[in-house]
Amino acid sequence: MAGRSDQSNLSRVRGTLGFHEKAWELQNRNDMEKNGQVDLNQFVGNGEWEHLYDEVQILEETKMSDEERLRAAVPALLSWFSGHARILPWREQPTPYRVWLSEIMLQQTRVEAVKPYFERFIAALPDIAALAEAEEDQLLKLWEGLGYYSRVRNLNRSAKQVMEEHGGELPADHQKLLKLPGIGSYTAGAIASIAFGQKVPAVDGNVLRVISRVLKSREDISELSTKKAMEILLERVMPADAPGNFNQALMEVGATVCIPRGEPLCEECPFYTLCLSRRDGLTGEIPVKKAAKARRVEERTVFLITDGRRVAVRKRPEKGLLAGLYEFPNDLGWLNEQGGAEQLGQWLSEQEKLFGKLRGINSIPVTGDEHAACKIRCAGDATHIFSHVEWRMKGYIIQFPEAGLDELKDNWKQISGIAETVFLADAEELKTRYAIPNAFRAYTEKIAELLNKDRN
Ligand code: SF4
Repeated sequence: MAGRSDQSNLSRVRGTLGFHEKAWELQNRNDMEKNGQVDLNQFVGNGEWEHLYDEVQILEETKMSDEERLRAAVPALLSWFSGHARILPWREQPTPYRVWLSEIMLQQTRVEAVKPYFERFIAALPDIAALAEAEEDQLLKLWEGLGYYSRVRNLNRSAKQVMEEHGGELPADHQKLLKLPGIGSYTAGAIASIAFGQKVPAVDGNVLRVISRVLKSREDISELSTKKAMEILLERVMPADAPGNFNQALMEVGATVCIPRGEPLCEECPFYTLCLSRRDGLTGEIPVKKAAKARRVEERTVFLITDGRRVAVRKRPEKGLLAGLYEFPNDLGWLNEQGGAEQLGQWLSEQEKLFGKLRGINSIPVTGDEHAACKIRCAGDATHIFSHVEWRMKGYIIQFPEAGLDELKDNWKQISGIAETVFLADAEELKTRYAIPNAFRAYTEKIAELLNKDRN
């Protein structure tokens, strides 16, 4: 029986392109599966001696515990990361503040989308003291379009807490980090390991997917218990001298190789040999994740009330979805063009005394009526998907002559159905001052085009 003494030949074989295919073809033989062993002598003399080495290695790997399997992968994982780590702005100087900010921005957001936001945010608020002092409108504007705006509010609250309790420096302690608003076990683990070199795992959705596949685990990754168990396992196997790189390498595999949608790129993966889901063709079934609850669908009508120079904007309530951001007045339900006019007319008629000039607006068929006080035209449909609700919107441009809108503006606060916070913003203010969420992007673009056109 051949031994494993000829390591140089084994290395040579492993270096050939076909190594993995040969290895796994043998691994999948029924007799190996059933008995956990093969008659290695059957290969001697047939010119394929290298299989013997592969067989032995695979058999050893098959018997590994989860911990042994992951531990065995660490050298390849770290080596792969040193050659494949993407160059990212926050990796250039991994200070605690930069790591923290990047990890918060990266939650539910793609790396490519985060990059410009990160650069802009750091330029505007270069340290924790500046973040603590920032006004909410500035924070929301810097975050505009990233979504999940509670993240930036929590950053601000945490920064204030860090200034008060930790002298302006993020604490180099996993437990203390967990006490800051918006920092959960993943973010605390990422900051502690990457910025402070502490041996703490950072398990996010990417890592859950990769490890579940490597170990062929069918535990539901949406369960907290699954995440906890994975944290315990990873803490045991992560190297004390490179915890930050270990965590980042796992995240990188999840983001670039063992990708969330589509076929994983197993040929490029440092877990190739050890991954049980790849070996057994189970990457379509693993990870297991219970189906998310169906989203509620809301139909909405959005009103772009403008005089060609300014548009009506209002601030959303301080609590709930998109809290504190700005939006175009909108209401539940779809209105057709006539309905849009009626809705507006309803608002206005309640204040009829205040709007003598606009009296009779209920009757306007508006579109194309040269004598109407305002004109309504379609601004198109748009859909925006939040985690629990989906907005299906129909938009209308309601164009006033300038004087009419000024009169309307003077009495905005008294118009029933339009929040007290409605005001008029011009193109420059829309661009630089008021944070309007992505949900309204189609309409923001449309109205910006219109305001800019009229300005030029
Ligand atoms: S081998 Fe394939 S399935 Fe396994 S971790 Fe790598 S990319 Fe994912």
